[in-house]
Amino acid sequence: MAKTFEQMKKELLERTKKNYDRREPDMGSSFIDRDKIGDLKIWRAAPTKGNPHIIDIIPFVAGDNFPTHNQIEEGNIAYCVDLWVHQNVGPSKSSVICPAKNYGEPCPICEEVEELVKEGVEWKEIPIVPKRRVIYNVVVMDDEKTESAGVQIWDVSYKYMEDPILALSKSARTGGVIAFAAPDKSEGKSIAFDVGNDTYRKITGHRFEARDYDIPNDILEQAVQLDQILIIMSEDEIKKILYGSSGGSSKEEHEEKEERSSSRRSRTTRTEPDDVQDHEEPKEEEKKRKKIINQKRAVKS
Ligand SMILES: [Zn+2]
Repeated sequence: MAKTFEQMKKELLERTKKNYDRREPDMGSSFIDRDKIGDLKIWRAAPTKGNPHIIDIIPFVAGDNFPTHNQIEEGNIAYCVDLWVHQNVGPSKSSVICPAKNYGEPCPICEEVEELVKEGVEWKEIPIVPKRRVIYNVVVMDDEKTESAGVQIWDVSYKYMEDPILALSKSARTGGVIAFAAPDKSEGKSIAFDVGNDTYRKITGHRFEARDYDIPNDILEQAVQLDQILIIMSEDEIKKILYGSSGGSSKEEHEEKEERSSSRRSRTTRTEPDDVQDHEEPKEEEKKRKKIINQKRAVKS
């Protein structure tokens, strides 16, 4: 039967809210476990039109899950996690933390990249090659509203942020570095930058700004242990994302079938609810992908 205006209104309100929340889907952050960041928000650096962004990076005490190349041990003071992420993985175009480049564990995506390279595909033509990202706790000092939001989590390209600010931190005079994330104003700096309006939101014009305030304790306490909020997937989970839900090698398919339903469920609950693009894949695309994989398998065997 036809729905009443009241029902339609209710459903449309929910639909509109969902669409609003998803209006700027940021696939880059789908490896952050939102259940572990409490009330903190993921910050998206919108294009700056004349007014630069200005942020303070908030340090935190490291947990036990830093990617090994960070050379940070539990209990050390850190200000970011520097990590390798595969983007555009599988039909769902997911972002997946690379087990190989971060933790020295086997990575089915890196294996797939290797296969493609062997087949003659150019590295830059492969959308799933690992990309270097960096995650910070930041307070955005753009205006009163962003400042009052407190600490937010920012996931950004290493090349666009960490690389240029490390270059800035080197003091030509002393040869040492400036600890820009230090809480006290005598050493710490705010960082200003511009964000382009292009597809890649290129970040330029990084500069340090003197601070006339120390980072207060309540802000320091809000910062999360960034190494503890990473979604680290098992090899099987990664394969399922890489090949779509019907993936996995034919040999393993029988063994995997039984556990698949349960592990898929657990993955669904682990990721954020609004990250629908990770789970709702267009059926046609999945079929196409499966066909390609089957063809590749046929060629290999
Ligand atoms: Zn990898």
